[in-house]
Amino acid sequence: MKDDQTMSGDDLLARIGQTTEETEFYTPMPAGYRKGHHKYVMVVGTVMSGLGKGIFSSSLAKLLQDKGLRVAPIKMEGYLNIDSGTLNPYRHGEVFVLDDGMETDMDLGTYERLLDQDLSAANFTTNGQILSAVLKKEREGGYLGRDVQVIPHVVGEIKLKLRELAVKSNADVIFVEVGGTVGDYENAFYLEACRQMAYEEGESSVLFVALTYILEPGTLGEQKSKAAQLGIKRLMEVGIMPSIIACRATHPVKEKVREKISMYTNVPMRRVFSMHDVESIYLIPESLREAGMDREVLTMLGLHERVDQKMEDQARLKWRWFVDHIGKSNRQITIGVTGKYTSLRDAYASIIKASEHCAVHLGADIKLKWIDSSLIDGTAPNGDSTGSSDAETELADCDGIIVPGGFGVRGTEGKIECIRYARENKMPYLGLCLGFQMAVIEYARNVCGITDANSTEFDPRCKSPVIDILPEQKKIEGLGGNMRLGGKDIELKRGSLVSRLFNNASRIRLRFRHRYEVDPKYIKTLEDNGLIFSGKAPGHPIMQVLELPQDVHPYFLGTQAHPELTSRPLRPQPMFLGFMKAALQYAEQKKDRRNAEAGAPA
Ligand code: GLN
Repeated sequence: MKDDQTMSGDDLLARIGQTTEETEFYTPMPAGYRKGHHKYVMVVGTVMSGLGKGIFSSSLAKLLQDKGLRVAPIKMEGYLNIDSGTLNPYRHGEVFVLDDGMETDMDLGTYERLLDQDLSAANFTTNGQILSAVLKKEREGGYLGRDVQVIPHVVGEIKLKLRELAVKSNADVIFVEVGGTVGDYENAFYLEACRQMAYEEGESSVLFVALTYILEPGTLGEQKSKAAQLGIKRLMEVGIMPSIIACRATHPVKEKVREKISMYTNVPMRRVFSMHDVESIYLIPESLREAGMDREVLTMLGLHERVDQKMEDQARLKWRWFVDHIGKSNRQITIGVTGKYTSLRDAYASIIKASEHCAVHLGADIKLKWIDSSLIDGTAPNGDSTGSSDAETELADCDGIIVPGGFGVRGTEGKIECIRYARENKMPYLGLCLGFQMAVIEYARNVCGITDANSTEFDPRCKSPVIDILPEQKKIEGLGGNMRLGGKDIELKRGSLVSRLFNNASRIRLRFRHRYEVDPKYIKTLEDNGLIFSGKAPGHPIMQVLELPQDVHPYFLGTQAHPELTSRPLRPQPMFLGFMKAALQYAEQKKDRRNAEAGAPA
């Protein structure tokens, strides 16, 4: 094909791919790479972090995807950890697990949700991954006697990662999000790799978007562009000319400010966008479209011919439905969420998003009430040993309760108390991972009479470890690491609540991240006492979903998985949707009861 001709005619590419001493290039090309077909949008941030590069990048990617183009995002993190698995969610936000088991930054969740696309390890990298790949190759003698250098070898590895993603995804456009801020030592290799990509890929193949921030100090009451100018200057100092500048700001960016930035950076006014705060992130794709950003990208990358107009019209119609229904609610519910990291919402980003999706589809206003369960059991770090609250008080104004995933003992007894309250008062319950395990412990103690039931995670010497690490099961599954990670199939019991939630499916797939599970020794006792294990790992005694019979409780469901990770705006996750529906009913009944008590007409 034409691609081969381009390749052979290109002086540079003839040398690329060879690791000999005569060339300064170290650019291994993955097999099947189509130069000129794959285009790149590199998104970098200046002035400060936390500008929402991921949201911007995924919104722009969505606009192109809507037009029928294949898009593939990648997030490049500056830290040395190999993945996000060991990061504290309190500092870094939730750990987002992909189907292939990769533990990533929460931004990957933003991409998956906005693009409605499952991602993999190919869509995520860290400095740790890049450097260890280089060191491994060095030990294997992969550099043919050369001294191994940051340039060309480390940046070569980064370029390889980008091109491998291009081949794997067969994307028209790869969206590269460089973590951190221009000027950080951590992302300097990434910027250099991106600059080299622009050089090697040639005209109309790579463009840079600089996200910047327009300050508006309260004391001045006007927008100031200097910090943005200096930030972009730093980018130009490393040899990168931005093609598009997106100005984050609290208020719409004034024409004069945009003019200054345009003048200072050689970027024409039509490509200096105001990206001011909007009510909801779901509005961003359409606002970028209205500002003409998608057309500018198509023009600069020569992609107009690949657009499918019909597809775009359909995609926009669906998205518009969703956006139009945001905040259109005539009923309100409050869902209690017991969370250890109650002070940092990012730690529960996917639960918040999954609830938002349900809110739009149900036309309900869903308020999440964060409950610090360590206040209930008296394990709060402030030394309060008595417990200054109880489950009944905390849940009095709630219509349902979610116990999310977590690690460590703090607050677990308080969670068990909340679950007991939900079970006994027929309040809808959704247990996620740890919340599934806690429900098993609660049932074992309070229904089956195994009063000392616990998890060995919290009490390694406990007499009745209903939740335990089971090494022989790990062996059966053939897992090397000590966490059971990623997408796994779940076999569902016919006629169960969970099966009905999934349109009577007999098998579903959800994502997991856990170390402990139900000890099969206790399954019979639990089931004999009325608990139903309605989802199991095919061929293994690993319990993955539990529920109570519908005549006992309207909605009591727990899963060892993390269903919140796979909820999408246009496809809310069924376990969440069912739970929220039940909570709406619970709220109605509560209202009826109150009216009856007050003697008012129902
Ligand atoms: N700590 C529990 C385990 O390791 C639950 C993990 C989780 O909630 N993600 O099994």
